Amino acid sequence: MKLLVTGGAGFIGSAVVRLAVARGHEVVNLDALTYAACLDNVASVAGNPLYAFEHADIRDRAALDRILAAHRPDAIMHLAAESHVDRSIDGPGTFVETNVTGTYTLLEAARAYWTRAGRPEGFRFHHVSTDEVFGSLPPDPAVKFSEATPYDPRSPYSASKAASDHLVRAWHHTYGLPVVLSNCSNNYGPYHFPEKLIPVTILSALAGKALPIYGDGSNIRDWLYVEDHADALLLVLEKGQIGRSYNIGGENERSNLELVKTLCAILDRKRPRAQGSYADQITFVADRPGHDARYAIDPTRIRTELGWRPSMTVEEGLERTVQWYLDNEHWWRPLQARQGVGQRLGVAK
Ligand code: NAD
Repeated sequence: MKLLVTGGAGFIGSAVVRLAVARGHEVVNLDALTYAACLDNVASVAGNPLYAFEHADIRDRAALDRILAAHRPDAIMHLAAESHVDRSIDGPGTFVETNVTGTYTLLEAARAYWTRAGRPEGFRFHHVSTDEVFGSLPPDPAVKFSEATPYDPRSPYSASKAASDHLVRAWHHTYGLPVVLSNCSNNYGPYHFPEKLIPVTILSALAGKALPIYGDGSNIRDWLYVEDHADALLLVLEKGQIGRSYNIGGENERSNLELVKTLCAILDRKRPRAQGSYADQITFVADRPGHDARYAIDPTRIRTELGWRPSMTVEEGLERTVQWYLDNEHWWRPLQARQGVGQRLGVAK
């Protein structure tokens, strides 16, 4: 299959690109190379004849038309987005432009391309979204997000992603575009941009800096190893039912404080401090405005319909992730100089 992957120089998109090429798919990576992108993420496939890169913005209709006509993909996997909640609090405009207008522009380009090609049945537009569109859950472990959970986004980021999900469904119902959607929980793993909780914790710990915990650290997330997610995305693309959405979770709920303490314990073993534990560096800071209390995925649909389960427990995944950051300073060190990285963002003062 020939895939056009948007956002393939980002964290999850690059995992999809690497896995798709490894499985023998042809891949065109379309990316605007924003502050969050890193072409080193796809260096392992850059010389592969199955791989091509297109530097383009999903808001640029002419570029999208040119790229679709030139490469003639069988499917589009749409991951390009502004993805950091804290940045969406400080500057929501870019999130609306890329996540909403960009998705609209891509849908229109995809519709024109698919129509010109004679509306092939096998074509797919796979929209990759987040569980944050469903809002926030109570602590009751029996209550989780299913595909039927009503949308209730609360941050500018999740609102922009919810809007894009609605557009994708509308393009299916109105124009018949063959779409599938997926909403996943928090990803982590190699190549995670060093402004998100897990890499920030690992790198701040190693630098002897404070480990900032928003609020009291009780917020719960369902952690999904990025390579498991990439595997699930290719499965949804190939086997998902047209017009349907699939929730993808890690089945690994942890509070932020538990997660940071686990990372500290791993670092204590792998790179012990001269004295004491990395956990001594934990510092509680002002909470994120509107911080959702809990996210958790009910994985019943993807498990029963597509037979998919995550392969990795959060303990195994964190162990691998910490080791990856210890081994790949040449990757993360230059990214720390990018705009806003390492600063406290999203306090909405
Ligand atoms: P990321 O920020 O690491 O990467 C996003 C990529 O999109 C970057 O390479 C960037 O250059 C590119 N991009 C941004 N704006 C663009 C534009 N206008 N045109 C073309 N390219 C553009 O994001 P990620 O964490 O890899 O997330 C990928 C997708 O998965 C996003 O749609 C995000 O909403 C969704 N998602 C992420 C998570 C998570 O935990 N990271 C969870 C749920 C859903």
